Amino acid sequence: MNSTTATATPRVLILGAGMSGILAGIKLREEGIHSFEILEMGDSVGGTWRDNTYPGLSCDVPAHSYDYSFEPNWRWKSLYAEGHEIHAYFKHCADKYGVTAHVRFGTRVNSVQREGAEWIVTDTDGVRRRADIVINCLGVLVHPKDPEIEGLQTFEGARFHSARWDHRVPLDGRRIGVIGTGSTAVQITVALAERATSFKMFQRTAQWVCPNFDVRRPGWLRALHRIFPRLSWAAGRFQNFLLESTFAQAVVGNKTMKNLLEWLARRHLSQVKDPVLREQLTPRFEIGCRRLIFSDKFYQAIQAPGVELVTEAIERIEPKGIRTRDGRLHELDVMVCATGFHALDYTRNLVITGEHGQSLGDQWSQGAQALRSVAISGFPNFFMIVGPHSPIGNFSLTGISEIQMGYIMKLVRMIRRGEASAMAPLPHAQTQYNDYIREGFKNTAWVSGCSSWYLDANGLPRMYPYTPAQYRRDMKEPDLEEFSIVA
Ligand code: NAP
Repeated sequence: MNSTTATATPRVLILGAGMSGILAGIKLREEGIHSFEILEMGDSVGGTWRDNTYPGLSCDVPAHSYDYSFEPNWRWKSLYAEGHEIHAYFKHCADKYGVTAHVRFGTRVNSVQREGAEWIVTDTDGVRRRADIVINCLGVLVHPKDPEIEGLQTFEGARFHSARWDHRVPLDGRRIGVIGTGSTAVQITVALAERATSFKMFQRTAQWVCPNFDVRRPGWLRALHRIFPRLSWAAGRFQNFLLESTFAQAVVGNKTMKNLLEWLARRHLSQVKDPVLREQLTPRFEIGCRRLIFSDKFYQAIQAPGVELVTEAIERIEPKGIRTRDGRLHELDVMVCATGFHALDYTRNLVITGEHGQSLGDQWSQGAQALRSVAISGFPNFFMIVGPHSPIGNFSLTGISEIQMGYIMKLVRMIRRGEASAMAPLPHAQTQYNDYIREGFKNTAWVSGCSSWYLDANGLPRMYPYTPAQYRRDMKEPDLEEFSIVA
């Protein structure tokens, strides 16, 4: 990238070419800013939808509410899109809006350092890039977490994490085991239960599962949406409305909605005929405390012949399979670790150093804090999409990203107009904002007594604790009183 002045055409580096990185590129181009690069470690855009390819992968947020608002997608085959469709959609958006050409694939960033009035971004090949603005779009569920179980490495069959699926491994007629009961494990169980000779799901914690009322979108409906794209747009708004007036309310203190969800989940669970199995599948924590699972078919799959829910704790892993505490050896050909991620670990494998030489990892050692999720005190012109306390447990990630990028663009425009060369939150403003966030936690389902990736090391939620409407109000306009502005 050529060096330019810090105003009219700021040099921007975007980290990551997933959903939010593509969006950031689109919005910069829309503004006439072409002086940007997107640094992406993979060989294709799409982030999580590129990395996760497990059988059964789909998005449990209705497809149209996962569209960018400016690019409604008529192609979705069902109410809920499959993973490969979503990946194709983001690739399409990156191409259509001219973003792909800005992506430097195979570039893994390992440090982002403030030097004087600019940022130096260094990749693992030692290439140093300079920027006036950095937008961190590295995502939240990126780094797979293998289970800490004795003997994991000794297993002689095929073993992989759900986010690193090994498609060379045959599945039909094999003995398959999946460790975990989160959204991923549930989708894998539905997809593979009937393909395996025997399928075992190893459960440590039973989860709440709601039906998602999935339906195919017939050809005529897709054709209609193709001719009238506003229909897709309207469907997206309607789906968002439903999501925001039910689930999003339930998790932040709306008792009626919470009771409604619980009623729905219990009714769904009642299709499990065997009372022992039903009891084993009944969660022991309040609904919404952990990420709710949406699946029409899970209970059907777990009751299918050849499928077993193993609730006995895992003792260790042996060459032939999984040994549970009752002494039983569950022999397997394929072991899938659907054991989640080092979630929201924003500085993992990345050193970010601010204006006083301070490391963001250190600054966040007691919990990540930002101003309105997008800017960090001491890190001028360093912005984040889906940063700390984003409403990721409440509503669609694309919607959140658009709101956050809209806010960031207002700051970028000030830089372009020469009203500021650098901006970072004032420490007291950031503290005040985080007090406001903390105040909201007490009403949320996330603190009702369960362990989950929603909570930080101090047991505090890492999400925005109010309603979507409140979030829109909070993000409407940057309050310049909250910023330290260098002219
Ligand atoms: P997860 O929700 O973190 O679940 C991990 C599972 O692995 C849990 O059941 C956990 O048990 C189990 N586990 C971990 N270590 C274990 C061990 N040593 N022994 C036994 N069990 C162990 O991970 P995920 O299912 O991959 O989902 C992560 C997030 O991705 C979701 O919450 C959701 O936000 C997102 N997601 C979304 C979709 C979608 O359709 N939109 C689909 C998939 C995932 P415990 O519960 O006891 O800890």
